[in-house]
Amino acid sequence: MVPATDKHYTAAIIERRDFSEDLWLIRVDPGGPFQFKPGQYVTLGVDHGDQRIERAYSIVSSPYEEALEFFIELVPKGALAPHLYKLQKGDMMLCRKIPKDRFTLDLKSGRTHHLLLATVTGIAPFVSYVRTLYQDWKNGGSPMPGNHKLYCLQGGSRSWEFGYREELERFAAEVPWFKYVATISRPWEDAAWKGETGRVDDLVRKYTEQWGLRPETTTGYLCGHPSMCENGQGILQRAGWQKGSMFEEVYFIPGKEAAAE
Ligand SMILES: Cc1cc2nc3c(=O)[nH]c(=O)nc-3n(C[C@H](O)[C@H](O)[C@H](O)COP(=O)(O)OP(=O)(O)OC[C@H]3O[C@@H](n4cnc5c(N)ncnc54)[C@H](O)[C@@H]3O)c2cc1C
Repeated sequence: MVPATDKHYTAAIIERRDFSEDLWLIRVDPGGPFQFKPGQYVTLGVDHGDQRIERAYSIVSSPYEEALEFFIELVPKGALAPHLYKLQKGDMMLCRKIPKDRFTLDLKSGRTHHLLLATVTGIAPFVSYVRTLYQDWKNGGSPMPGNHKLYCLQGGSRSWEFGYREELERFAAEVPWFKYVATISRPWEDAAWKGETGRVDDLVRKYTEQWGLRPETTTGYLCGHPSMCENGQGILQRAGWQKGSMFEEVYFIPGKEAAAE
C-alpha cells in the first residue's frame, strides 16, 4: 500500500494503454481534489524499499476531465520509469497534491500565434491545451482573448511513438485554430509512413514560413528532448525570436539524474 502524506495523494491507475514497448499512457484517479491549468506538470512517485522516488510528468488531460492522464516513456535504466512501467490498472502510486505552474499558454503578451514544438512525450502539455480549448470552443465560448491560433510540430523516430497523432489530426481537421504536423526522423525503420520526415529542429524554418509565423506575433513553446529544445530555440532566435517569447520544458539533462521538482 502506498501511504498518503500531507503532500501526496495515493493515486489509483484506472486505465493503461500501451502504444509501443516503451511508451504508454495511464489515466489516474488522483485520490483527492486536484486543480491544475493546461500545461502544468505533477510529481509522481513510488516507495521502493526505504527510498521514495519521484519525478515530474506533464499532464495530458484537460482540467475538464475527471482523471489525470500521463504519457510516459520507459527509460530502461532510470530510477522511476521502470517502476511506473510495472504498474497496471488498479495499482497505486504517489501523486503530489499541488501541480507546478509552468508552461501554460501565453495569453498576456498580446502574441496571438502559438508555435508548439514537441518530441514524443513532450506533446503532453500541448494535448492538454488543445483538449481544453476544444471543449471551450464546442461550448460556444473561448477562454482566450482575441483570435489565438496554435501550430504544432511533433517529432519522433518512428510513427508509433506519437501516441496522440490521430486525436490531434481530428482536432486539426475540425477546428480553424489548430494545425498539426507529425514528423519522423528514421523513415527507413518505418516504411509505411507517408508523412513528413526529418527532426523537429530541421523543420522549424520550413513550417514557420509555411504557416506565416512572425516573431512579433508568435510565442514559441519547446517541450521534451533537450537537444530539440536547445536547437529549436537557436533556430527561432536566428529567425528573430527574442528570449522572452520562447518557453521550454526540458524533460531531462543528458547524463544527469533528472530532478523531481
Ligand atoms: C517538467 C517535466 C515534465 C516531464 N514530463 C514527462 C512526461 O510527460 N513523460 C515522460 O515520460 N517524462 C517526463 N519527464 C521526464 C521524467 O520526469 C523523468 O525524468 C523520466 O521519466 C526518467 O526518470 P527516471 O527516474 O526513470 O530516470 P533517471 O534515473 O532520472 O535518469 C536516468 C538517466 O536517463 C536520462 N534520461 C531521463 N529521461 C530520459 C529520456 N526520456 N530519454 C533518454 N534519457 C533519459 C537521465 O538524464 C539520466 O542520465 C518530465 C520531466 C520534467 C522536468
